[in-house]
Amino acid sequence: MASVETLKNYVNGSWVSSGAGETLEIKNPATQEPLARVPLSPLEEVDAAARAAHTAFLEWSRVPAPDRIQFLFKLKHLLEEHLDPLARSCTEECGKTYAESVGELRRAIENVEVACGIPMLMQGRNNEDIARGIDEHMYRQPVGVGAMIAPFNFPAMIPFWFLPYALATGNCFIVKPSEKCPITQQRIFELIDQLGLPQGVLQLVNGSKQTVDAILDHPLIRAISMVGSTPAARHIYAGAAANGKRAQCQGGAKNPVVIMPDADMDTAVRILADSAFGCAGQRCLALSVGITVGEARDVFREKFAEAARNRRVGYGLDADVETGALVSLESKARIEGIIAQAEREGAKVTVDGRGKMVPGYEQGSFLFPTLLDNVPPGGRTAHTEIFGPVFSMMHADSLDDAIALVNDRAYGNMACIFTADGAAARRFRVVARAGNIGINIGVAAPMAFYPFSGWCESFFGDLHGQGEHAVEFFTETKVVVERWPREWSRKF
Ligand code: NAD
Repeated sequence: MASVETLKNYVNGSWVSSGAGETLEIKNPATQEPLARVPLSPLEEVDAAARAAHTAFLEWSRVPAPDRIQFLFKLKHLLEEHLDPLARSCTEECGKTYAESVGELRRAIENVEVACGIPMLMQGRNNEDIARGIDEHMYRQPVGVGAMIAPFNFPAMIPFWFLPYALATGNCFIVKPSEKCPITQQRIFELIDQLGLPQGVLQLVNGSKQTVDAILDHPLIRAISMVGSTPAARHIYAGAAANGKRAQCQGGAKNPVVIMPDADMDTAVRILADSAFGCAGQRCLALSVGITVGEARDVFREKFAEAARNRRVGYGLDADVETGALVSLESKARIEGIIAQAEREGAKVTVDGRGKMVPGYEQGSFLFPTLLDNVPPGGRTAHTEIFGPVFSMMHADSLDDAIALVNDRAYGNMACIFTADGAAARRFRVVARAGNIGINIGVAAPMAFYPFSGWCESFFGDLHGQGEHAVEFFTETKVVVERWPREWSRKF
């Protein structure tokens, strides 16, 4: 068997081989070809990274913000220059299409661009004469060492909802990539290595649960950013809080869309098929539950079933592919189990994506688009995050009944409506319980200058990733009240 690269950690400005006793194999999910092995770094390696970051912080936090962002300008150019190999790496390790990988890299770069505005974004506030001759100022100072725990589904982008802001605000930062898709971050850190940053400012430590627990327990790590499933987000948020760290943990999702009878059906079907089946449904902003209102039911179901059947499934690096592979065969088996459960609960499998193969990639973890109709709103399927190309349909007689179904769920990542009626759209916008709302939009992903606003079980914390929330998360406020007695007694 051909030997594959064992990924390294990037600690204190150097690439180091992990002494981990255990490594996991990373395979291309479409071809099952082994790509690399990822070490599950032990506590001592987290400790080395945290100590190096803490030492670096003492200097880095005093580097003026206009100088700090020069490294981000360089990083932007390096990411642009290496967009193609990075996008290929993303597709190879997690299965999405090349175009989707390019899209996620663009979103990563967008966050670097926004963080370049930090000299203005982290400005404080002040008041002269809060009392006679007394002034009050609020400054923002970096928190210290932060760490990011990433999910598999956007291996390039998601660390960038945090990293550029942490760096620009004067913090030192450790990335722990997903152990399922760790390769693209390794490639990105090869670019970071070229920036000439002081040692210890940015570091990469590979691993899984034990590595995360070492991060949560480390006294020098002050801030935790995490994105992943809800049980892991809850565990990490609780662990961080118990150790007195600030934390922002973005969890899972089950995103509903309401389709009104007056919606432009052809447009809605095209956009919704891309939302539900793009990235093989492995997007935390994938729409996975469709609630048709009144007469929308039959017309939408018919057109959507056709779109599901016609979707081109295949290897993400091949031309014209619209839906790539799932991350693993385990994931495929798990989702097939949920489809069987839906059948047992009384749902009808209108389009069945099971048991199909992509010619040339027969071993690949492909599941074709699947449409479940009449999914019982009270059943398990209606409330389980599937994270695959499976769309569940329900029906309501009125907008209010549909909104009740939208709000009858634990998650609150995104909710969407398709309609031509401004009043219906407004009502939905006001009362739907989710932090990201789409109106005639299928993936309401906030731009980098807005917070990624999950609610309920989709988020644990106060300040989200991206934009001003990230700036606040990575800074402490310091308030200074100031009086100068000679100046105070002077008459103007
Ligand atoms: P996951 O929860 O399995 O893993 C995410 C990270 O948490 C990994 O780095 C993993 O090592 C770590 N982790 C997992 N279990 C842990 C535990 N018990 N203790 C300590 N660390 C643990 O998630 P995944 O399968 O990689 O990613 C898919 C999930 O992420 C989906 O639920 C999806 O909805 C969610 N997601 C959410 C958002 C969002 O913005 N809300 C974005 C992308 C993905």
